[in-house]
Amino acid sequence: MKKQNVLIVGGGFGGVKAALSLSADERFRVTLISDQDDFRYYPALYHTATGGASQVSSIPLSELLADHKVTYHRARAMHLNREAKHLVTKGAGTLSYDSLILSLGMTTNYFGIKGLEEYSFGIKSLDEAEELKQHIHNQLRTNGAVDQHYLIVGGGPTGVELAGVLPGYIKRAMQRHGLPRRAVHVELIEAMPRIMPRMTKDVSRATAKQLRKLGVTIRTNQKVEAETADALIVNGRPVTSHTVVWTAGVACNRFFQDNGFTMTPHHKVEVNEYLQAEPNIYVLGDNADTMYSGVAQTALHDAVTVTSNLQRQASGKKPKPYHRRKPIYVTPTGPGWASVVYGKFRIYGRVGWWLREAADFVAYHDYQPWWPAVQRWRALHDTQESCPLCGQ
Ligand SMILES: Cc1cc2nc3c(=O)[nH]c(=O)nc-3n(C[C@H](O)[C@H](O)[C@H](O)COP(=O)(O)OP(=O)(O)OC[C@H]3O[C@@H](n4cnc5c(N)ncnc54)[C@H](O)[C@@H]3O)c2cc1C
Repeated sequence: MKKQNVLIVGGGFGGVKAALSLSADERFRVTLISDQDDFRYYPALYHTATGGASQVSSIPLSELLADHKVTYHRARAMHLNREAKHLVTKGAGTLSYDSLILSLGMTTNYFGIKGLEEYSFGIKSLDEAEELKQHIHNQLRTNGAVDQHYLIVGGGPTGVELAGVLPGYIKRAMQRHGLPRRAVHVELIEAMPRIMPRMTKDVSRATAKQLRKLGVTIRTNQKVEAETADALIVNGRPVTSHTVVWTAGVACNRFFQDNGFTMTPHHKVEVNEYLQAEPNIYVLGDNADTMYSGVAQTALHDAVTVTSNLQRQASGKKPKPYHRRKPIYVTPTGPGWASVVYGKFRIYGRVGWWLREAADFVAYHDYQPWWPAVQRWRALHDTQESCPLCGQ
């Protein structure tokens, strides 16, 4: 029997789950391409950027795909030829498909704000996390002083997670470099009237209270207008800083616009009830305009839906329509504290933190057998707090 050729693009939450789900089914020949050789576990990147082990936020794809019948190429998807059913890539030539699954994730959006791309830091990859860590230590080592302001722009979950641990990390780094105790000014800057603007007000209030306890200053209704080498310009006024972390903007991967996909007013790809953007082309995760896209749980659920429909169709059955699944939002905010939000249900504090730890294990185990997942999960408790530059 001729095998169905499934080409999956994107080595992240959606793409890898789709590849693993189909790999054991002999009716499919599965090829995965990704422009990075690692699977990024984004939820732990803030931790890696502040002294946590790198292995908790970056897993080699070769490790995840070992023992699975998946052909992997490191390659970037460039041009789609719908008539010929092939994808032109940079790195693996032209690849043909019977079904194409796209899960390319989001890219950083600077909204054209002058200087941001040049001067700000990010925490969207291991390299970015490392760069931020090195910068913090470099300042303490060479200037012997803390920055006047450590600014985190974006009061969504990513900004909140980082703000919760940054003051403690900088203080520990100062100790390592033998600097006297000094006040550390970490500020969280948000354009909207409250942080966690996509959550309800009670969640914003509880999170803000926790951040203030940790010494973080919250500045809302603040519009970033530009960044220079020495300052961030906010609401027309310069705030002196050499450490600005930009977490406030993401945009759908350019591939879709460049290849003529139909985009919705949310700037995501229009998909039908089977997550199909076009015949034989499926879009998952952050790229698809579904109600709960933007979180890892949705990307995973999308991958399972699409692959089980491909299997159903291969068995001569009708595909099942997509049922959206409400995610559980868990946002760690400083050591031992997290908010858990599921519909109207809320948990704050230590119990929330434990649930987050459990969720991390479940997420690792979604991609790895239980023992490697346990080891990675345990590494969440390891820290590499020595200076990344001098090893002190
Ligand atoms: C800092 C941060 C923290 C987060 N924390 C959480 C959290 O705590 N909980 C949660 O549920 N969600 C969290 N998220 C969101 C979650 O990570 C995303 O929803 C999820 O990664 C989406 O999965 P995806 O498959 O759509 O995209 P991704 O996981 O981003 O995967 C996209 C993949 O495609 C590859 N790629 C991109 N372009 C190309 C191309 N042209 N050719 C080939 N490959 C390409 C990329 O390298 C990447 O491997 C966080 C996101 C960030 C940035």
